[in-house]
Amino acid sequence: RAKQEGRNSFRLYSTRLDVREHRWLAMETALRDSIDSGEGLGLHYQPLVERDSGRLYSMEALARWHHPEFGQVSPADFIPLAERSGLILPLSRYLMHRVAAQLRTWLDAGLTPVPVAVNLSAQQFWQQDLIEQIRALYDDYRLPAGLISFELTESMLLDKQQQAVQVLQELRQLGCRVAMDDFGTGYSSLSYLHQLPITTLKIDKSFIQQLGENQGSNTILAAITGMAQGLKLTVVAEGVERQDQLITLRQYHVNLIQGYLTGRPMPAEHVARQYLMNDNGRPEEGKRERKE
Ligand code: C2E
Ligand code: MG
Ligand code: MG
Ligand code: MG
Repeated sequence: RAKQEGRNSFRLYSTRLDVREHRWLAMETALRDSIDSGEGLGLHYQPLVERDSGRLYSMEALARWHHPEFGQVSPADFIPLAERSGLILPLSRYLMHRVAAQLRTWLDAGLTPVPVAVNLSAQQFWQQDLIEQIRALYDDYRLPAGLISFELTESMLLDKQQQAVQVLQELRQLGCRVAMDDFGTGYSSLSYLHQLPITTLKIDKSFIQQLGENQGSNTILAAITGMAQGLKLTVVAEGVERQDQLITLRQYHVNLIQGYLTGRPMPAEHVARQYLMNDNGRPEEGKRERKE
């Protein structure tokens, strides 16, 4: 009897696995179609503002995918799916072109865009012709140097720090700023950070969300920001949702704020309307400054 139950529950489990596997395969096919057609794929832009003035400093481009069958799929799901299924390179290439085209559209409209940061995935970072692609992107869309910047994570560089330094130097020579994303969640090797020619450190939102809840996270924040200051890195606090977190962050060396408090990820049209200056030096309509 036990044996039989075991077999049944095995069958149930196996069926569930099949269902999940089937869903992944269907999603992979759907994602491939969306990359080919561009349908349902796009970007939201989230403001990074200066901590003290609230002024817009830059934006982060965040991938968005909506599919008729699967609905709105989180990039936390479809980026790993793309990485597993060989779709990450075509997807990334498509998204980078969308960012460049958006910047060109803003420039042509007489707006003054701020730099837009693109998240690089590991496979993309380690492509032989990454620098060539980026150079071509700047040329094709006639973008001023530095308008596209990049974010990467520590795990991408594991065991390959020497080669990474090379790629990072080439990015810097193109005039691009480079941020270490989600800092504090991975290996967080403080000892090699100073060897990497990056410009910016983005402190992961898990630290910001624990602020005030335990003394430990405050201590870690003090250590990370102190070190970043010594290394002359621009420091971003990610995931700032509440005013009290912003106030606490005034005690530390933090330059920029990114979070729902100061601006959610939003479609390009909203960014232009709310934030970008026109030729007259005004945001398209009204307020560029953040309201307190
Ligand atoms: P990330 O690069 O660390 O991006 C920040 C994430 O935090 C975004 O999630 C953003 O919507 C979210 N966020 C911003 N402010 C707040 C806040 O105040 N509270 C909370 N709880 N969350 C906040 P999103 O858009 O879901 O993206 C998730 C991750 O997917 C990104 O993390 C990034 O690793 C990856 N990703 C997104 N777009 C791309 C892309 O175009 N290419 C690659 N390779 N990865 C991407
Ligand atoms: Mg990022
Ligand atoms: Mg992050
Ligand atoms: Mg992340």
